[in-house]
Amino acid sequence: MSGQSLQSKLPGVGTTIFTVMSQMAADEGALNLSQGFPDFDGPPELLERVQYYLTHGYNQYPPMMGVAALREAISHKVSDLYGLVADPDREITVTSGATEALFCAIAAVVHPGDEVIVFDPAYDSYEPAVTLQGGVTRHIPMRAPAFDIDWDLVADTVTEHTRLIITNTPHNPSGSIWSLADVDALRRIVSGHSVFVLADEVYEHIVFDGLQHESLCRYPDLMERSFVVSSFGKTYHTTGWKVGYCVAPPDLTAEFRRVHQFVTFTTNTPVQYGLADFLEHHPEHHLELGAFYQRKRDLFCQLLEGSRFSLTPSSGTYFQLLGYENYSDEGDVILAERLTREAKVASIPVSVFYEDPAAHEHRVLRLCFCKDDATLRAGAEILCHL
Ligand code: PMP
Ligand code: GLN
Repeated sequence: MSGQSLQSKLPGVGTTIFTVMSQMAADEGALNLSQGFPDFDGPPELLERVQYYLTHGYNQYPPMMGVAALREAISHKVSDLYGLVADPDREITVTSGATEALFCAIAAVVHPGDEVIVFDPAYDSYEPAVTLQGGVTRHIPMRAPAFDIDWDLVADTVTEHTRLIITNTPHNPSGSIWSLADVDALRRIVSGHSVFVLADEVYEHIVFDGLQHESLCRYPDLMERSFVVSSFGKTYHTTGWKVGYCVAPPDLTAEFRRVHQFVTFTTNTPVQYGLADFLEHHPEHHLELGAFYQRKRDLFCQLLEGSRFSLTPSSGTYFQLLGYENYSDEGDVILAERLTREAKVASIPVSVFYEDPAAHEHRVLRLCFCKDDATLRAGAEILCHL
């Protein structure tokens, strides 16, 4: 290009760690326990329903806000699970993955100079979306090793410039989940402030040990100011379909859709219809998902008992943190790369999800256990021999 100078809006942003590690795993022929995706398929009946719509003419643009049947099914789900009455026409929008919903919610409310609070280690799509709106991300570290939130620190960080707080429970990458005390603390902090909440609840159904997922959908006073985001990719073992949704009150949804209509406009038709049928006829699938993944978590943790890694079983998500203080002094990025190359098992270094990776002691790797038992056995065997 002649004479043009491209000035990046995201100069500090490289390629997302999930792409980096999955690519490295493929290049090195390593077992990929890094990026979160199952190595098994979604329910056969769901695949059949999508195939049905694909081959019966449901292949043109659906409505911008999502097909009515799917929005109605989502409305029933949030009512059954959380007691929220959400109007499918004014409060529910289907999106191209949770990633799109997160972006649209951030773009809808963040103006240049606004501050947005995130909790480190934070999922990596939040900050770039804030930066692109001219917002400023304020990072609050969670308290290791429990990865809970220091609400006093949050109270000290909220100012008249704070526009949005991004929450994430169950939490990726730590596997911690919120208690009712967290909800109460959030409520105390936002009341009296003109602050919105973006609740990333993509792992809402993957909660263990009889604990309850504290969806903000349960709390009408918080819901008034919240966008609640989820993803069918996690729930139906179909991360590649990229279908998610956002539930928010009518005024927030109207602004959300102003953005959504010009980001993707809408989301692919046959998958939406297939999901609508499946949600209606098989609510047991999401109700049983916690038990399904708890068994995998327990298997993986049990298999690692003889290893040099330390672990506290996750409370939710399909990720398990492994502490490696008894194994290596290496930084986690270096170790994750070395294990991929030499031991042939890929993981995710957690330090990359911090504002300043160097400022924290990171002796943990994130391993993904949404895998067939045989894959988990193969991974654990490698890790036990280190
Ligand atoms: N938020 C979190 C915390 C996630 O782990 C993911 C998973 N990729 C997403 C958002 C994005 O979900 P989706 O793949 O539906 O865009
Ligand atoms: N959420 C997935 C994870 O945490 C990855 C998503 C992505 O690759 N963008 O591993």
